[in-house]
Amino acid sequence: MTANLLDFDLEELAVFCERLGEKRFRATQLFRWIHQKGASQFDEMSDLAKSLREKLETSACIQALGVVSQHISADGTIKWLFDVGNGDVVEAVFIPETDRGTLCISSQAGCAVGCRFCSTGHQGFSRNLTAGEIIAQLWFAEHFLRRHLGVSDRVISNVVMMGMGEPLQNYAALVQSLRVMLSDHAYGLSRRRVTVSTSGVVPMIDRLGQDCPVALAVSLHAPNDALRDNLVPLNRKYPIAELLQACKRYLAFAPRDFITFEYCMLDGVNDSPQHAVELVKLVRQDVGAGAWCKFNLIPFNPFPASGLVRSSQSAVMAFARILSDSGIVTTIRKTRGDDIDAACGQLAGDVKDRTDVHNRMSRQRNVILKPTFKIVPIKHEDGVNE
Ligand code: SAH
Ligand code: SF4
Repeated sequence: MTANLLDFDLEELAVFCERLGEKRFRATQLFRWIHQKGASQFDEMSDLAKSLREKLETSACIQALGVVSQHISADGTIKWLFDVGNGDVVEAVFIPETDRGTLCISSQAGCAVGCRFCSTGHQGFSRNLTAGEIIAQLWFAEHFLRRHLGVSDRVISNVVMMGMGEPLQNYAALVQSLRVMLSDHAYGLSRRRVTVSTSGVVPMIDRLGQDCPVALAVSLHAPNDALRDNLVPLNRKYPIAELLQACKRYLAFAPRDFITFEYCMLDGVNDSPQHAVELVKLVRQDVGAGAWCKFNLIPFNPFPASGLVRSSQSAVMAFARILSDSGIVTTIRKTRGDDIDAACGQLAGDVKDRTDVHNRMSRQRNVILKPTFKIVPIKHEDGVNE
């Protein structure tokens, strides 16, 4: 069987080279050709012996994902839909900012968690992506962007696992792909600039801390179990108190000294001042998380089947103020790429329904929320936000 070299981390590639009767160090060369130079053909790899290239031709491939579509937003955000076979598509989104380039990638086709406010959740679970399919999104985006921008330096500085799927329910492939992202011979990303976002798979948070600690974002969305059970069904298995304890344990291994809690703002559901006060009490009193948590309020991106509505700007501001005034570092996520449905939760599931992407592209853009009061800035060792 032909091996897809995007599936391998450096150690596995070394083993593969040994099986071909080659020295292990060849793997480093090969790894660099693939991930640093974006080679997709073995005959491009000019410093590899012809005999090795011939062996590779017959036993291996670099299997990219088919690009179904690419949309470039007015704000520079780029969204790609990739074909992963059997009618499944997954999404990756590039978000350029002045001081960094962030790629948001998918870990699964669909998702089994079924959060009420998430279009991927509504779509249901199709399958786990392989490590190669996760890395292929970064491989494609990085090398596409270099060509597109005419640069040879790295374009993507940050990766967030916030596309389709629950990364901690595809654990082995996730960790494998993280190792490639972090490898100095591949993308060389800092652990602090790779973020795994999870709806709260408690045992896997502990394992990630052991196996491959990177920045962690936890999708909280509610200040109590009754409400969270309803919004994030996984909460019935791993309730908030257990989740916060797992976060606290993770801090001992985390590359950052805080954990980000994401909170999707839903009109009339979880966005009242009382909810904010309850949230402050929760994070402060229950595990003393006030000192190590940061909140990121995400304005809900509506989709028809959800029956939910985005919180008003004033509700988001009032909520943020309550958290902020009680000393909790709080930011409001800017809506990016909204004209191309690249915002959170507006994922490739839509395409399965054959929604007309061009109609959606002409939709009115969101107002970017600008706080009218001071929100405590986040301290970053390297001056980089998430
Ligand atoms: N499964 C993981 C990662 C993918 S979802 C998780 O849930 O964390 C990435 C983020 O997008 C999560 O915080 C999720 O709650 C948020 N999200 C999902 N649907 C959304 C929507 N319609 N509007 C705003 N944020 C949404
Ligand atoms: Fe899955 Fe995350 Fe969407 Fe929930 S928010 S359904 S965990 S992708």
